[in-house]
Amino acid sequence: MAGAFRPEYALMMNKLVHAAMEKGEKALSEYTAKQLLAAYGVPVTREILAREKDQAVEAAGNIGYPVVLKACSPELMHKSESGAVVVGIENTEALMAAYDRVVSATSAPLEGILIQEMVHGRRELVVGLNRDPQFGPCVMLGLGGVLTEAIKDIVFRVAPFNQNEALDMMDELRSKAILDSFRGEAAVDRTILGKTLQAVGQVALDHDAIAEIDINPIIIDARGNIKAVDALVVLG
Ligand code: ADP
Ligand code: MG
Repeated sequence: MAGAFRPEYALMMNKLVHAAMEKGEKALSEYTAKQLLAAYGVPVTREILAREKDQAVEAAGNIGYPVVLKACSPELMHKSESGAVVVGIENTEALMAAYDRVVSATSAPLEGILIQEMVHGRRELVVGLNRDPQFGPCVMLGLGGVLTEAIKDIVFRVAPFNQNEALDMMDELRSKAILDSFRGEAAVDRTILGKTLQAVGQVALDHDAIAEIDINPIIIDARGNIKAVDALVVLG
């Protein structure tokens, strides 16, 4: 489904966004946010929402170790700060221990515990959206990872924009060299990244209730494929 634009989902996804609004939620959970983005063709991690420990064990078996475990709640906007993320879980014992640790670390009401594939890659991007009072929905592309704050290498486009403009955004990054083949890792799939940038703009155009989107990070793997491993959709 990567890159496939599926506007027929707009209506269905509208219900999902409005259901969250009606419950008074200020954001979508990571799981729901990724369902929304995936419907628009954004590549996201394979993941399963578990409601009990034995479901989590089964989910990890289906996805295949190593896995990542996260507490999933619309109230958890910065999960690692609250001890709600465990990466690199190698086996059932470690999974069960992580499950207990994460459940006791957070007081937020949980939608469930998210079990997801572990994505390997040394390059990280951030894709975001905010609404400018003058220009409307603006899509942001930036360098992700530990250097994000220090380097502040980001570019913006007002949505909607076409694939050529999306490709131009990539070329405008000062650190665009990491998008080419880099230290033995393949060049990023620019087509899918471009469609992802367009899709994020389209989500905002279709859903007025969405104030902000933060996909942080998107990991580029050794073969150049991209995957959103985290997503935050803020309502307002
Ligand atoms: P937060 O809400 O704190 O931003 P994230 O879901 O982004 O939580 O997880 C924190 C970090 O853990 C990410 O920045 C990323 O480096 C790593 N991470 C999270 N999920 C995965 C995954 N599925 N595969 C690989 N690394 C991951
Ligand atoms: Mg994150």
